[in-house]
Parts: sequence; structure tokens; C-alpha cells
Amino acid sequence: MKYKLLTPGPLTTTDTVKQEMMIDHCTWDDDYKAITQKIRRELLKLAQVSDQEYTAVLMQGSGSFGVESAITTFVDREDDHLLILANGSYGERMADIAHHARIPYQMHKWKINERPDAETVRKLLQEHGEITHVAMVHSETTSGILNNVQEIGQVVKEAGATFIVDAMSSFAGVEIPVGQWGIDCVISSANKCVQGVPGFSFIIVRKDLLEQCEGNARSLALDLYEQWKTMEVDGKWRFTSPTHVVLAFAKALEELAKEGGVAKRHERYAENEALLWERMTELGFVPFLDREVQGPIITTFYYPSECNFDFQEMYDYVKAHGYILYPGKTTDAETFRVGNIGEIYKEDIEKLAVILRQFIESREEKAAVS
Ligand SMILES: *Cc1c(COP(=O)(O)O)cnc(C)c1O
Repeated sequence: MKYKLLTPGPLTTTDTVKQEMMIDHCTWDDDYKAITQKIRRELLKLAQVSDQEYTAVLMQGSGSFGVESAITTFVDREDDHLLILANGSYGERMADIAHHARIPYQMHKWKINERPDAETVRKLLQEHGEITHVAMVHSETTSGILNNVQEIGQVVKEAGATFIVDAMSSFAGVEIPVGQWGIDCVISSANKCVQGVPGFSFIIVRKDLLEQCEGNARSLALDLYEQWKTMEVDGKWRFTSPTHVVLAFAKALEELAKEGGVAKRHERYAENEALLWERMTELGFVPFLDREVQGPIITTFYYPSECNFDFQEMYDYVKAHGYILYPGKTTDAETFRVGNIGEIYKEDIEKLAVILRQFIESREEKAAVS
């Protein structure tokens, strides 16, 4: 059955992006390598950085492979110390990565509905002179909060530390002037706001810093430095690349440009989000976040307080009508999430609102009968 995904990746892609995957490409062919190189150049443009200062490296695997590759290549086990700013499970995943690689780190946690604040980060950096790297998430997909990376970046730069940002769910959906915000390394993946399909992640990173990372990596396959060195030659990936996914991604980048670039895509997502907020609150659903910190990517709602609410039942009902909702990931409250990204337009949000109204009415009728 065909349905649209209201999830933050994999997300709903265009038929034309999917169509690209009908071609089998070999990995050492010049045409294919040129596609990889073009993708790398386009990504630098999206990040608003020059190829003098930054480079884009593609890495097989989902987004977490990219984050793991970046952290374990960048943070040296002997000399470095990583500070992780976390207000959700993707921040905590970075700590898990550091833990697995036995990288010295400390994590500072905020509540899931609160942004990391620059003042606290400044104090942490003053108190802990051992900190060499700071990592945080931009759009915490756990809740949908959009963190203030620009403000934190300034503090990190003042302290002379390296700044690593997981912008998985926001890159290309929110403008991120990577250099201007003091970001040394930013990570995202094929199946989020560029609107490709899952299969690789990409890391946009300052060349002078990556240059110093030879031999740092704790893993052969996830060695970002070696991946870069190989890819830099002529666009060949070090190990087998997800060829179909790469072709689909190249098409998705074209379609992003056609839409009007990141600014236009952000506008569409933000409109989806604003309409969703409006329609859902009309239906009686209470958003989890305060309006000021809500990002455009994904929105979390509390389960209604009436005791007869069952997420699975609502999920099944909405699915039968053509849309997929997303379960919550908050630990202390019963919630569910709705993604605003992908090939989703205001019409879809309106349709969802109608479907949810029908669902609620059908529940009320059922309750009245019994
Ligand atoms: C999607 C996502 C990831 C990566 O998750 P994968 O399941 O490995 O693709 C990492 N961080 C954030 C904020 C995300 O939204």
C-alpha cells in the first residue's frame, strides 16, 4: 500500500528521485565518480563555505555512521577531551559513541524542552581547560527543538575549541552558514532534508583540521581521514558505495535547487509546521514544546488526556488513510510526533487534520455507544 511518511527520515521522496534508482552504475566508472565529485561541491554550496577552507566527505551507512566517523576521527583518545551538549537522545547518542570508542568526554544535559544556553557552556569551558572539542545537535529530532548553534558556536570559538554539529535533520531544511557560525564539522545524511533515500551520510569539515587527523580513527571503515584522502583523488569511494542511493541523491539535489534552494525549502517546511500546529491545537492536541523553541522539522504532541486514547489505534487509522505518524521518543511524557519534511505540502497537513478529526469522532461515537 502506498502512503506518505510524516516522519523525519526516511521521508517521502519524489517519484523522479526514486526513478533514478532504476539504473545500475559501476563504482569505478568516470561518469559515476564525476557524480560523487559534483555532489561534494554542491554540499559545500549548501553549507555556504568555500572549497579552499572546507571539504565534503561522503560516508556509507546511516546518519549515525557519519556522526561516529566524525567523532572518532576528530577526537584523539590520548590528547583530546570532548564536551557534549545534550537535550535529547541524539545528543546522548554522541556520548554513547564516545563511550564505545573510549574517548575522554563529558556530557552536560538540559531538559528535553530546553535549549543549551551559551552562558552555561561558557562556564563549562572556563572550568574545564581540558576540553578541546564541543559537540551538539542542531535540530533535536527527539522533540523537534531547534538549538541555537550560532550562539554556542561563538562561545566555542572564543575558547579555541573545535565545534562538531549533528545537523542531521536540519541541513538543507534550515539555512546553516557553517563557517559563519563557527562550525568546524557538520554531519547530515542522504535521507533527511535533501530528500534522498537512506544509504549514506555526509560530513562537511574544515580541511586544515581534518589534515591533522591521520591515524586517529578507531575503526577502519569509519576512518573519515582515509575516506577523504581516497575520495579527494577522483571521487572514488574507498569501499563499495551505495550507487543507487548516490544517483537518487544527485537528483534530489537538482530538485532542491529547482525548488529555490534551502531558503525556499525552509519556507515550505515552516509553513507546514505552522499549519500543523494550528490544526492540531484546534483538534485539542497539545504541543510538547513552547512555540519559541519549536523548529520547522518535526513536532511533538502529548497524547490527549482522555484515558481511552490509544496511539496504535490512531496510527492504524491514519495509515489506512494514507499517512504515517511517528511515535514519541520522550521518556517522561506520553507523546507522538509528526514530521513536516519531505515531499509534504500544506494540502497534506490539511488532509491529516481531516483524517484525525474523523478518527476522534469515530472514537467518540464508539464511547457513546458503550
Ligand atoms: C536521523 C538523525 C540521526 C541519525 O540517525 P540514523 O538512524 O543513524 O540515520 C542523528 N541525529 C539526528 C538529530 C537525527 O535526526
